Amino acid sequence: MNMLTRFVPAFENLKTPFYFYDMELLRRTVADCKNEMSRYGYQAHYALKANANEPVLKVMREAGFGADCVSGNEVLWAIKNGFPPEKIVYSSVGKTDEEITHAIRHRIFCINCESTQEIDVVNSLAAAAGTTVDISVRLNPDIDPHTHQYITTGLEENKFGISPWEFGRLADILKAATHLRLMALHVHVGSQITDWPVFQRLCERLNDLQDLLCSYDIQANHLSLGGGLGVDYADPDGHPVVDFKRYFDLIYRHLKVRPGQTVHVEPGRSLVAQCGSVITRVLYVKNGQKKNFVVIDAGMTDLLRPALYQAQHAIRQLSSQAPPERYDVVGPICESGDCFGKNISLPQTRRGDLIAIRSAGAYGQTMSMRYNLRDLPSAYYSDDIVV
Ligand SMILES: *Cc1c(COP(=O)(O)O)cnc(C)c1O
Repeated sequence: MNMLTRFVPAFENLKTPFYFYDMELLRRTVADCKNEMSRYGYQAHYALKANANEPVLKVMREAGFGADCVSGNEVLWAIKNGFPPEKIVYSSVGKTDEEITHAIRHRIFCINCESTQEIDVVNSLAAAAGTTVDISVRLNPDIDPHTHQYITTGLEENKFGISPWEFGRLADILKAATHLRLMALHVHVGSQITDWPVFQRLCERLNDLQDLLCSYDIQANHLSLGGGLGVDYADPDGHPVVDFKRYFDLIYRHLKVRPGQTVHVEPGRSLVAQCGSVITRVLYVKNGQKKNFVVIDAGMTDLLRPALYQAQHAIRQLSSQAPPERYDVVGPICESGDCFGKNISLPQTRRGDLIAIRSAGAYGQTMSMRYNLRDLPSAYYSDDIVV
């Protein structure tokens, strides 16, 4: 039994594959995050790249969250979806002049600068626009988040942020930057972090970095810890909502906040992963000599995470309660990496059965693509489905 069961009759009439979003779970997750965060007066900017669908953004906006964007188009999309510009932050290691100029024109909360070179460019573009721009500086805290190497972003060897050995130069550049105001210090060390001590180390490291920056006379009113909180991909029904209480308690206990400073977080995955599933139909069951394959109509073009990060999403068969068998669950794309799970136990499965790939709400639909000229998957929301 899982939380999708009651929607199965409705799924039968929809063209697969598609994304399905449990909006009630999304609202519950967002409310829980907001509730735990408000105890300490922290503020959240939702990381749009995890899921930028309009009904999802509406829930975030109505909760009072701001938007964390990583491209000029995300900034424009956030504005179009009603996020007030003063609640939008924009990070990226490679912003074009055009993207920066748009962000300046819309007067967003701040531009997160990732290198001293970028600070120079933002300063000259601000001067050209005849205005002063609020920035934050992304620091590279050199922390290993113990997650997949492709989603590790806070190690010295990664391309993100400014390292302590550059702080002297940073101080000089900030002093010379007549059209910038330093608003915030920012870190983001990776994604799908499930190892709690990583967040503790991050807070302690940020305390040290702040002390060091102070010695260069660099101070900011806001501290942003980024996102990264991981979800339980193995057991989405057992842990539908992450432990926000523990997360914010931990920050409260370990982060040294100076008088007048506000703490910001940028959750993405932790808010949206569990509410989404890919619903797909079995095209063929191939019985091999060593293995049985279930070939489904969803592929890596619909959900890239397994192929890109070796991510393992829980796979549930929704159509029968037959005795279990073992299968490799694979997609239709001409790539061996197009595999959702090996040796997975499912009720004995037949052509036409419905399968759910769970925890697909984050970095799922936003990464879908048209390789093989496939159609992009559509989306359905529980609010619109009458059961
Ligand atoms: C992607 C990203 C986030 C969100 O990360 P999650 O792991 O989805 O919580 C937050 N901040 C920045 C700067 C990001 O690039």
